[in-house]
Amino acid sequence: MAYGHYRRYTYLNRKMRLVFLGPPGIGKGTQAKIICHRFTIPHLSTGDMLRSAISAESDLGKKARTFMDRGNLVPDDVVLGMVEERLQKPDAHGGYLFDGFPRTLPQADGLNELLNRINQNLDIVLALEGDDDILIKRLSSRRTCESCGTITNLIFSPPREEGKCDECSGKLIQRNDDKPDVISERLKVYQRQTEPLITYYAEKDQLIRVNGVGTIKEVTARISKNLPDGES
Ligand code: AMP
Repeated sequence: MAYGHYRRYTYLNRKMRLVFLGPPGIGKGTQAKIICHRFTIPHLSTGDMLRSAISAESDLGKKARTFMDRGNLVPDDVVLGMVEERLQKPDAHGGYLFDGFPRTLPQADGLNELLNRINQNLDIVLALEGDDDILIKRLSSRRTCESCGTITNLIFSPPREEGKCDECSGKLIQRNDDKPDVISERLKVYQRQTEPLITYYAEKDQLIRVNGVGTIKEVTARISKNLPDGES
């Protein structure tokens, strides 16, 4: 299966359109950034877009906050509207990587419909997988820079100076939704609402499953094997 995908996408003469699926804490964001940098495609993280809307105190942000703080999903119509708007920006015309979207079957159908309308299709849906115990450990030790959004992990990649971001020296904080009771709700929501997408995309023959447990380098190498020119 992986080889078939590799052959099919090796000859793409345009940028790739990817989706990264996976439970919270599996490292989607970290891997997405690496892959986007390598292929010069924009990283479309709906979580990041929603957090920016919250910081900007926009109407969308105010609406999203109540759901996010509880570990619940923001309503599909809100997310689909936001994604449609984002895809119209020039940097997304070539290719892109969706991180954290779609998250429900209606979002996957909505994305399908949107892509049909603009005559595009997804190339690969990559699912990063790992057990709950490692996800809980990673999420509860995760800290986010209040200023630049960089994510640090107190156990796996501790900051050089306690409480300070390595990138900009901003204050490291724990996101409300990385607190223990919210983490377990997010994992339940993932199993209930997002896991069915694995079957959805497998049936469309677009899915590649990758073990997300290991060092950042190990996981990047596993992902790369399934992408064009991805032997490294
Ligand atoms: P993330 O940064 O991807 O872990 O997302 C953080 C939170 O943002 C989630 O727990 C949801 O509340 C919300 N969120 C992000 N992406 C979506 C989406 N595609 N659909 C609904 N809610 C989302």
